[in-house]
Amino acid sequence: MRQSKLLGKTRKEAPKDEEARNAQLLIRAGYVHKEMAGAYAFLPLGWNVIKKIEQIIREEMDAVGGQEMHLTALQNKASWEASNRWDDQVLDVWFKTQLQAGGEVGLATTHEEPLTNLLTDHIASHRDLPTYAYQIQTKFRNELRAKSGLLRGREFRMKDLYSFSKTEEEHQEFYEKAKQAYKNVFDRLGIGERTYLTFASGGSFAEFSHEFQMVTEAGEDTIYVDEEKGIAINEEVYNDEVLEKLGLKKENLKEVKATEVGNIFSLGTRFSLPLKLMYKDEAGEPQPVVMGSYGIGSSRLIGAISEALADEKGLSWPRAISPFDIHLIQLQDEVKEDAESLYNKLTEKGYSVLLDDRDKSAGEKFADSDLIGISKRVVVGKRGIENGTYEVTDRSTGETADMKEEDVCQI
Ligand code: ATP
Ligand code: MG
Repeated sequence: MRQSKLLGKTRKEAPKDEEARNAQLLIRAGYVHKEMAGAYAFLPLGWNVIKKIEQIIREEMDAVGGQEMHLTALQNKASWEASNRWDDQVLDVWFKTQLQAGGEVGLATTHEEPLTNLLTDHIASHRDLPTYAYQIQTKFRNELRAKSGLLRGREFRMKDLYSFSKTEEEHQEFYEKAKQAYKNVFDRLGIGERTYLTFASGGSFAEFSHEFQMVTEAGEDTIYVDEEKGIAINEEVYNDEVLEKLGLKKENLKEVKATEVGNIFSLGTRFSLPLKLMYKDEAGEPQPVVMGSYGIGSSRLIGAISEALADEKGLSWPRAISPFDIHLIQLQDEVKEDAESLYNKLTEKGYSVLLDDRDKSAGEKFADSDLIGISKRVVVGKRGIENGTYEVTDRSTGETADMKEEDVCQI
């Protein structure tokens, strides 16, 4: 991609009404456009990062047997009335609207009800279970406050997987697999070290649910981390009794701010009973399906990671989710052909490359490159060309080395 043609320009200032550092940075670097409070459009750079985050999630969900599908965002009131959540106070974040033809519909806040309802057409026997369905799509929640930028959207992206099992035991087996899959996701995203499996309130079907909390000052949650054990506890369940149960000691815990990037939840028969999702067991007796739900906020992740890893110069992406593999900077007009030639070689090698071919000063190009934060930068300049080398810099460590072409092709 040539930067002269890239849709999305860097800016000196973020909009005045934007308070969140993640959104300020992402807007200034040309990743997102603020449509209104709580609603952000993704420009090509931002969309590249979202696609990479979601592809990692997809691979890990597929690896534990998840089947990707796509449900509707328009919601049928009847399914939600069946579970008593159409007028639920907890879910009092609905965007609802009237149909011209009469009747009310909602925009999806989550998808337990429609998926449970859908599966009544496809699950009948114990042979149909267990099964795991997931999707990655837009959710709508009329959040009261939308001041945390991408961390709390009124329109946001989520991966949600739902498990359908015959028994509690079978459910637990998958639940443990999902925990591991989530750990893999956060490790691969480059935030494994700052993301903790966190005990949180469980609802009526399990003592605890498990959140995955990424430590960041920008987070809205408070958690207590036991660094040695690598687990944490949400303040909502922080009390002596729970500490004892989990074998945690107050003096080993550190209070930190964090944002929930994912969570997993046992649902028992909370939805299968009211929506009549039953299967016939081996004796031919009808039984309710045992469910679980597993969410990851992919648009919250782009916000959380951008803010946590940024420095005073701008964004700094982990390699796995950098919008391009390499930012190739053509320093002067005279090296245009050299830059083009290296661009073609790197592209042929399979790297995705953003070539800064713009007619700008070196200073402006470097500043923009730091702001955009692609994980590797390769500079093509007159002096280097004379020596047969290119300057390669790692955005996160700042380490720089002069490399020959064959080495650049292996970074
Ligand atoms: P929170 O407590 O932060 O409001 P939640 O418990 O409402 O989160 P879930 O309904 O479990 O969240 O949604 C699953 C995931 O979706 C969350 O772990 C989070 O990463 C993401 N998410 C939830 N609400 C938002 C939002 N308003 N904007 C962006 N991402 C969100
Ligand atoms: Mg919420």
